[in-house]
Amino acid sequence: MTVGKIIIHQDRCKGCTLCSTVCPQHVIHMDDTRLNARGYHPALFVDNGDCTGCAVCAVICPDVCITVYREAPAPKRARLAEGAAAL
Ligand code: SF4
Ligand code: SF4
Repeated sequence: MTVGKIIIHQDRCKGCTLCSTVCPQHVIHMDDTRLNARGYHPALFVDNGDCTGCAVCAVICPDVCITVYREAPAPKRARLAEGAAAL
């Protein structure tokens, strides 16, 4: 499975919860322990390795607060070598 990671630009977040609602991996939570510069409880990424980099959160965020990073797939030749080593 592809491994992803997101950065949430905390001080732009307005705490609308849309990203946490749509994330299929449930790795975005609302941080109700603190307020950001705009006075909202911001979204918080829980980096437990489950993010797939699907980018649904970034697409739905109305304030463009989320940047998604996705691990590049290994080149085909490297994948074949891994498969051969496993035999
Ligand atoms: S990129 Fe996909 S899996 Fe990762 S946090 Fe966003 S919605 Fe969730
Ligand atoms: S969708 Fe955007 S503005 Fe709304 S909680 Fe998530 S990061 Fe914040």
